Amino acid sequence: MSDFPPGTVWLVGAGPGDPELLTRKAERLIGAASVIFHDALVGPAVLDLASAHGRLVSVGKRSGRHSRDQATIDRLIVDAALAGERVVRLKGGDPSIFGRSAEELDACRAAGVPVRVCPGVTAASAAASSLCRSLTLRGVARKLVLVTAHAKAGEVLDLDWQALADPQTTLAVYMGKAAAPELTQRLLHAGLPGDTPVAIVENASLPGERRLSTRLDLLPIAARSGLGKGPALLLIGAALSNGTARTSSERSLTESLSGRPRR
Ligand code: SAH
Repeated sequence: MSDFPPGTVWLVGAGPGDPELLTRKAERLIGAASVIFHDALVGPAVLDLASAHGRLVSVGKRSGRHSRDQATIDRLIVDAALAGERVVRLKGGDPSIFGRSAEELDACRAAGVPVRVCPGVTAASAAASSLCRSLTLRGVARKLVLVTAHAKAGEVLDLDWQALADPQTTLAVYMGKAAAPELTQRLLHAGLPGDTPVAIVENASLPGERRLSTRLDLLPIAARSGLGKGPALLLIGAALSNGTARTSSERSLTESLSGRPRR
């Protein structure tokens, strides 16, 4: 395969979990790999597909439980390539979005290992699709911000809250479950109205998918009581308004608290 000779590395986006959301290119590269280093976030069905091909090595990191540090992962993929393997580094979603791909690209380049990237469907796109909603809305939501609410242990969230609290922006918050109370408080304080629509999608595109719709001032309760242990994406902004079509199985926390559907 001309774009995947032995001794090269491909950083491949695995998408949100549903194997049908892999790109055809990702599937081809997985099929050609001799070794596949994958994240904890890569969906089980995607791993099943990958296990039929190259050797699978888990280098998973879930917050708080770092099984391998980034430097070790960098070294593993570089060493495998230098040993003549066709290396796929399989990452959840898109490698370039909160995926630490820059470190791995740098490590490969520094070692003289040829490296390329195959994009994937990111969690924000998957979540919006599950909700049957649009992330942007003509005249209403002109801006989409992908932001992470994950701070290093012991550090405060250092974000430009004023800029984020823009009513014409849709916020797609990655790794935001634990920080939901602080995120809410900061956004309210910066002037975003308490009734700003919020949607949360846990395990987007996976069999255990859960969708919740609520409002900003109820987000901490929703995040605490309505979710399980899976990865969850928070979407905040007028584009998530209940006025747009809602899928029948989507639960509304606001409805269950007030006892009637909100308009
Ligand atoms: N590179 C990934 C993001 C990695 S950061 C991407 O492009 O999607 C990890 C965070 O992504 C999780 O904490 C969660 O906020 C989000 N995420 C990843 N997969 C998800 C899924 N299937 N459903 C909901 N959120 C997901």
